[in-house]
Amino acid sequence: MYDVYKIREDFPILGREVYKRPLVYLDNGATTQKPRVVVDSLVNEYYSVNANVHRGVHFLSQQATELHEASRETVRRFINARSISEIIFTRGTTESMNLLAYSFGEAFLKDGDEVIVSVMEHHSNIVPWQLLQSRKNIVLKVIPMNDKGELLMDEYKALFTEKTKLVSVAHVSNVLGTINPVKEIIKIAHGHGVPVAIDGAQSTPHIPVDVQDLDADFFAFSGHKIYGPTGVGVLYGKEDFLEKMPPYQGGGEMIQNVSFEKTTFNDLPFKFEAGTPDYVATTGLAKALDYCSALGMENIAAHEQELTRYAMERMHQIEGMRIFGEAKEKDAVISFLVGDIHHLDLGTLLDRLGIAVRTGHHCAEPLMRRLGIEGTVRASFALYNTKEEIDALVAGIERVRKMF
Ligand code: PLP
Repeated sequence: MYDVYKIREDFPILGREVYKRPLVYLDNGATTQKPRVVVDSLVNEYYSVNANVHRGVHFLSQQATELHEASRETVRRFINARSISEIIFTRGTTESMNLLAYSFGEAFLKDGDEVIVSVMEHHSNIVPWQLLQSRKNIVLKVIPMNDKGELLMDEYKALFTEKTKLVSVAHVSNVLGTINPVKEIIKIAHGHGVPVAIDGAQSTPHIPVDVQDLDADFFAFSGHKIYGPTGVGVLYGKEDFLEKMPPYQGGGEMIQNVSFEKTTFNDLPFKFEAGTPDYVATTGLAKALDYCSALGMENIAAHEQELTRYAMERMHQIEGMRIFGEAKEKDAVISFLVGDIHHLDLGTLLDRLGIAVRTGHHCAEPLMRRLGIEGTVRASFALYNTKEEIDALVAGIERVRKMF
């Protein structure tokens, strides 16, 4: 039984007020709130375990290392990777994508090679490839979409040439909510012998992810978007690829032996983890993933799907409503504009009613250009949101609409 009201009690912040109104937090695509178990784990680790990991012989260091490495196993289980060697801790999806672009680029790309992305990518799956272009003259090819926000699969198939070396696409769009058919995208790419990287920042918190079932070659996500702490994320990569890729950063932890003449690198995944990791955050991330697993990702998905269905139905009834993203497979994100009200005005006035939404281009400027707009208001849902909160959003929009 999924009891959303009971679940909300795990998230103290949801009980607060803003502008003397109950907080309605609908900015979960940007970051999610944290359950008590996550925050408690951060406090407890700092108060009773804290020591630098991996390097110490003393008790605390070993205990901290055990917690950190147990978290890696929790991540492995959560996304069903084959081995903990395939789980690299990063600062978040952005760092994961930069690591990938740098390191995969060094190992596998040469001038003239092509990387396929989609028109709905977040900047963190565009700009790292462009940074690579300053070192290697690679070509970015873009999968287009239809007006509902669904990728055009025939056009995608037509983009492959003998120079295609990687496909890198979002699992779920942070603007449109489209759940892209990544399993099919991967199958098609593999048919051409091309590996695929998935930006899972917006899918991992909402739908079950199984990297082996998807057969993804790389998969990135952020801890803070899945009820975990900020400053921690993951890059999953198949061992075969990771073994052949050079380190992204140099420093402590990532080496086997260092001399001024020659340095040898550590085994996976440490080769990619230079310096002191945020080991307290990795423990918090593991607690967040365990929290989601205990609720059941299928149950979370079902709850959020119902919220999305309800919100779409209600919001469509608002006069002048324009919703961007009407894909058949849609996740808990609704981007919209109402009449000619500027998104910033709408967002600001909703805020005064206690409703937190995001406004702007959502780090997806090429997508905004494709939609022919500057920005949208975005409401994004999480496992703790309720239909009453959607009613509050709808009432808020109506109120603002009448003001204009
Ligand atoms: N990719 C997508 C689809 C996102 O929505 C986001 C964040 O909004 C990111 C990547 C970047 O995530 P982070 O800022 O946690 O690195």
